[in-house]
Amino acid sequence: MAPAGLACFDFDWSLIETDSDRFVIEYLSPALRKKLDERAMQWTDLQNECLKEFHEQGGSSQLVRESLTKVPMDSDMIKTCHLLYERGWDLAIVSDANSVYIESILEHYGIRHLFSAIVTNPAFWDAEGRLHIHRLTPADVPHGCPLGVCSLNICKGQEVDKLVQQRLGPNSANGSTLKMLYVGDGQNDYCPALRMKNPEDLYFVRKGRSLEKYLEKNSAAKDALPSRIVYWSSASDILKTIQ
Ligand SMILES: [Mg+2]
Ligand SMILES: [Zn+2]
Repeated sequence: MAPAGLACFDFDWSLIETDSDRFVIEYLSPALRKKLDERAMQWTDLQNECLKEFHEQGGSSQLVRESLTKVPMDSDMIKTCHLLYERGWDLAIVSDANSVYIESILEHYGIRHLFSAIVTNPAFWDAEGRLHIHRLTPADVPHGCPLGVCSLNICKGQEVDKLVQQRLGPNSANGSTLKMLYVGDGQNDYCPALRMKNPEDLYFVRKGRSLEKYLEKNSAAKDALPSRIVYWSSASDILKTIQ
């Protein structure tokens, strides 16, 4: 049976109340935090490099796992996920974080089972207890998104296209659309919003962050959105809107 709709969530500062990459590194070591702020590398590669350094200096995987249990999430966001799931929506995450952080945090809050897809940078623990993080889209095979707001390692729009096609199946060719909602805060959450085709689709744009600023500055980009924009500050705004 087709889902009632597809609900896509960005992860950092959308589903959770922090940036998981930054949160973990700051928890692990002040020296690595400095490295993060200097940002001399592509973001995903920089995370991988910081975790490599942490491991080489004797840092334990236990501390990384512990940090992931401290990541804050709003209880109204958890309620929102449960409510959509109970109504038959398909829930997906499209994120520039990584699979280990996202899986661990969702499991910590007991909501991993609510999500049918997690599209993000792949991460894994090796036998020595070091966490590796790779780019979803490798440097040698660029995604080629022409929009200019997507990170090198992920075009969230192309990833949402794949999610929609998987759910519509053969119907994707005959002009069928899927009811959708999207929750985001960053500029790279603009591209996927162009995949929502219905005026009743909901685009939740977090107030005070780079996505809102991008839409303020680019009225043409804002006008190109077919969906309804709902500005939100806290998860309770989203919960009230869908209730
Ligand atoms: Mg975000
Ligand atoms: Zn894109």
